[in-house]
Amino acid sequence: MSATAAAHLRHDWTLAEVKALFEQPFNDLLFQAQSVHRAHFDANRVQVSTLLSIKTGACPEDCKYCPQSGHYNTGLDKEKLLEVQKVLEAAAEAKAIGSTRFCMGAAWKHPSAKDMPYVLEMVKGVKAMGLETCMTLGKLDQEQTAALAEAGLDYYNHNLDTSPEFYGNIITTRTYGERLQTLAYVRDAGMKICSGGILGMGESLDDRAGLLIQLANLPEHPESVPINMLVKVKGTPLAEEQDVDPFDFIRMLAVARIMMPKSHVRLSAGREAMNEQMQALAFFAGANSIFYGEKLLTTANPQADKDMQLFARLGIQPEERQEHADEVHQAAIEQALVEQRDSKLFYNAASA
Ligand code: SF4
Repeated sequence: MSATAAAHLRHDWTLAEVKALFEQPFNDLLFQAQSVHRAHFDANRVQVSTLLSIKTGACPEDCKYCPQSGHYNTGLDKEKLLEVQKVLEAAAEAKAIGSTRFCMGAAWKHPSAKDMPYVLEMVKGVKAMGLETCMTLGKLDQEQTAALAEAGLDYYNHNLDTSPEFYGNIITTRTYGERLQTLAYVRDAGMKICSGGILGMGESLDDRAGLLIQLANLPEHPESVPINMLVKVKGTPLAEEQDVDPFDFIRMLAVARIMMPKSHVRLSAGREAMNEQMQALAFFAGANSIFYGEKLLTTANPQADKDMQLFARLGIQPEERQEHADEVHQAAIEQALVEQRDSKLFYNAASA
């Protein structure tokens, strides 16, 4: 298959085809992925998102890779839902260090009726700053997706994690079908989808291909496809899994790029463990989105500096969201903070 043939959007990938992509010689695969990438994106731009945990730990789900699951003892400090004010301050900092999208994650099975008003305030406030908004809150119903869309949520993250066949080895408290249903509600409500998976959980090549087939064969490709490398956390059942071969990880990014040519493929969790050369290869394979500044609230954010230095060495520019000039952004941030201060939801979210 030529790069050009792969450049149009397909939703009918078969396992044999996808395995053939994976099994090509590495250089052929990377050349094809880079060619597809250049047909759809500026190859020297990478989108930058910041992730904030708005509610940490004690999750009732049993995802075997996750330190936030209440089923495992990982020593993680649990936190209640953050105050709206704190979330907006973190968003303002993210904006100041160059993020264009602010992602807010809560370790829930699904948002409760009690939490929804706070979550909606967060979306409105972050959106008013001129940032793109993204949330990951677990399973959603139709009413909740409609409310989030109405509040201005741009993206909803809900990962499929792995193939349908391997999924039961990793999660037993939520079905694959429920995940697909949430994604369908998100799409129906007009929001963009962020959905991907994790490598290094003991899955086979067929499972990796199977995950990409599920994502690419959705009626519309997810706009954002995070590809994570398992972060092995002591106390989780996957703490002793074997490392993923770095070249196999790069192959996954490249095949994702070829199958979903217009999606942002995100080099996601596990990036801290990758050296600069591997990250450079990941960008060459078509990854064009990263998280940075994850520890924005508690550290001076040296990681973000390191990322910017790597970008400079590679001649990569952060992708900009150019709807507003900087002064307009600044005014919007200040205005949003003032407006939120007057809201009765502003101070008491954490004690709700
Ligand atoms: S639903 Fe999310 S937060 Fe909860 S255990 Fe699974 S991955 Fe972790």
